Amino acid sequence: MKIWLNGGLQDAEDARVSVFDHGLTVGDGVFETIKAERGRAFALTRHLERLTTSARGLGLPDPDLDEVRRGCAAVIDANPMALGRLRLTYTGGVSPLGSDRGDAGPTLVIALSETQRRPDTTAAVTVPWTRNERGALTGLKTTSYGENVVALARARERDASEALFANTVGALCEGTGSNVFVVLDGELHTPPLHSGCLAGITRALTIGWAGAKETDLPLDALERAEEIFLTSTLRDVQAVTRIDRRQLPDGPGPVTAEAMRIFDEQSAADFDPR
Ligand code: PLP
Repeated sequence: MKIWLNGGLQDAEDARVSVFDHGLTVGDGVFETIKAERGRAFALTRHLERLTTSARGLGLPDPDLDEVRRGCAAVIDANPMALGRLRLTYTGGVSPLGSDRGDAGPTLVIALSETQRRPDTTAAVTVPWTRNERGALTGLKTTSYGENVVALARARERDASEALFANTVGALCEGTGSNVFVVLDGELHTPPLHSGCLAGITRALTIGWAGAKETDLPLDALERAEEIFLTSTLRDVQAVTRIDRRQLPDGPGPVTAEAMRIFDEQSAADFDPR
């Protein structure tokens, strides 16, 4: 397995990042997860834009996108596989313990691991903890993912693959690693960005391709929704057939099935959709 580290390809076993990397010690980093299929990175331009937005939000220097593109292509070429999870991690770099970010320059790691296409359906739970819609990190894809780790563990305990958060005013927000869509009275809705959710790339494509409305929704919309689905880079569009103790129809409902169909069709036709 080859990975990219700060300017070049290396064997994964030999690649070393300092134990004093600010990303490791204080979570001073941002990341992207990108789908690699048929030897290419899906929606790469959108992912690189979000990486830059996240880096700026954290006060990191802009990533060198030429290097990131070269690195992605090199890692994908060096590790042929049917479906890959490409992970970019970009951190504040090495800095002595207890000090601010140093001058050593950022750390960039690009790695790839093989993955499977997710099943069409899944179960989700709601969790009692809130997403902060007005936090310093809201909307940024940072490596400070501890809250998501805790919530996902709660979901796993309940045989679910995702945990959904409300925000501090009780509005439906997002999952630990996905955005959420609901069908109410036959219409497709998803929470707006001001709910505090991440600007998911699959979310944006689904809004455009399937015509969803961005709507402030209370958490209990999940109790009334005729259909619910999740979107993320590796889930694509995935129907929720159980939410907490509520059982929904066994397979994707008609609106979800159509969103899945359109997503598959459009994404096959355009590998770097704007
Ligand atoms: N929300 C969070 C918190 C995430 O980590 C992710 C995954 O990246 C998403 C939503 C979905 O975003 P995307 O569709 O870009 O994968």
